[in-house]
Order: sequence, then structure tokens, then C-alpha cells
Amino acid sequence: MFVRPKIIVGNWKMHKTIEEAQLYIEELEPLLVDVRSDVCLAVPFTCLGTAAKLVSDCARIRVGAQNMSEHEEGAWTGEISAHMIKEAGASFVILGHSERRSHFGESNAVVNTKLTLACRTGLQSIVCVGESLGDRNKNCQKDVIALQLSESLAGFPREKSASLVLAYEPVWAIGTGKNATPEDAQAVHSFCRQILENLWDKETAQKVSILYGGSVKPENAPLLLMQQDVDGLLVGGAALNAYTFSQIIHATLTIR
Ligand code: PEP
Repeated sequence: MFVRPKIIVGNWKMHKTIEEAQLYIEELEPLLVDVRSDVCLAVPFTCLGTAAKLVSDCARIRVGAQNMSEHEEGAWTGEISAHMIKEAGASFVILGHSERRSHFGESNAVVNTKLTLACRTGLQSIVCVGESLGDRNKNCQKDVIALQLSESLAGFPREKSASLVLAYEPVWAIGTGKNATPEDAQAVHSFCRQILENLWDKETAQKVSILYGGSVKPENAPLLLMQQDVDGLLVGGAALNAYTFSQIIHATLTIR
């Protein structure tokens, strides 16, 4: 049976200067001595180069970006390309985060274009999906997620699935202090895996990691991680402090 490694991603959003990033990584590294899970830091573009250099001798930590342009190169003032973030040291990129979707109008079609480009550039993609509170109240959570997945992954070849990670982030749980229950998260993750299976095949679907995100804290991380289809966590607010983030990472040591 394929054992999916646990992945813990910290999303700093628009926080931390280069100097603050350096202090954070210097504090985090020694706290991870026993850790074997994949620890990822999604940092602001400006911190990528410094952060990548700082973690280069620490096999447990990788750095990546929170977004990238859907265009390869050209007259796109203010945009940052896949190639640029790769060159700066990113090994992954978050795509379709709900804040990108709601504040910047990022559609599933745009996520799909970015996914193809990221893959071609040799970047792992963490594709985010998740329903709003309105969707949940209307009981159409599964329809929304199914559409997000089918449109975001359209045409993405199964042979490239190793470069894909999914993140289920219910919008109502992001930054609100209200997390999905472990049982609810498991149900949605298993639903997402079923969609992957229908899209590709069972074996490929079993290999794709699906992370949960939305108000993860050291207190709720262990039970979430214990769910069969919860392969890791995408953490916002609680990842801003290195010690708190390390406590969440340590939750991986208590399970399978
Ligand atoms: C996020 O930014 O993806 C996130 C899940 O944020 P928070 O952990 O603060 O809810």
C-alpha cells in the first residue's frame, strides 16, 4: 500500500520582511530535529531567495510561493512568472487560494492555466478548493468542490500527478477560528479522492496528497491528521509564529 507522506505547509500571506523571515527560519530549524514530514513555507516573493538559501542545508524544509502569473513572460506589469519563482528557489506554488479567488477574481480556468505552467516549469502545485458558508448552508458543498476540481484539473495528465497536491480549505474556516470537524474534513477529502479516481484511476488517486486548511492550531491538528485521507495541513495564522508552527508540525509525530 502506498503511504502518503505528511505535508505541513505554512502560508505566511503578506507577512514578514526578509529580516523577519531569516529570524523565523533560524528559530524553526532547530525545533524540527525529530521531524520526518515534509515542511513547506509559502513565503512572500521578496523573501523567496533568502528563505531558499537559509533552508538549503535543511532537508526537512522547502520554500515556495503563494501565487504566480498565468503568463509565461511579457508585458504584464507587476506579475511574477513561474520561471522567476523557480529560479529564486521555490519548489512549489499555492494556486487558487480562496483569497486569490475572492479578492483577485481567480477563476478555475486561471488556476488550470497556472497549473499547467507550474508543472511545465518543474514546480509542485498546491491547488486549493473549498466551499463558502453560503454554499454550505445551501447544501451544495460537494457540487462546488466537484466543479472546482474538474475545471482546475481539466486536461492535466495523470502522469504528472506527482507534481500535484490538493488542499481542501472551506472558506468559512479560513482565519475565522472555526475549523471543519475532523469527520467533515475526512468526508470531503474522501470525496475529492473519489473525483481524482474518476478522473484518472484508483492507484493514481491514492498517491495524491490532500491537505486540510482552515483555522488549524496545535490543539486541533492531531485529530485532523489522524483522518485517513487528511495527508497534511495548510496553515495560515498559526504558522506566523515559528514555535506555534513547530507544535503543529510535531503533531505528525503522534500519528501513523
Ligand atoms: C490559509 O491561509 O490558507 C489558512 C488556512 O489560514 P488560517 O489557518 O489562518 O485559517
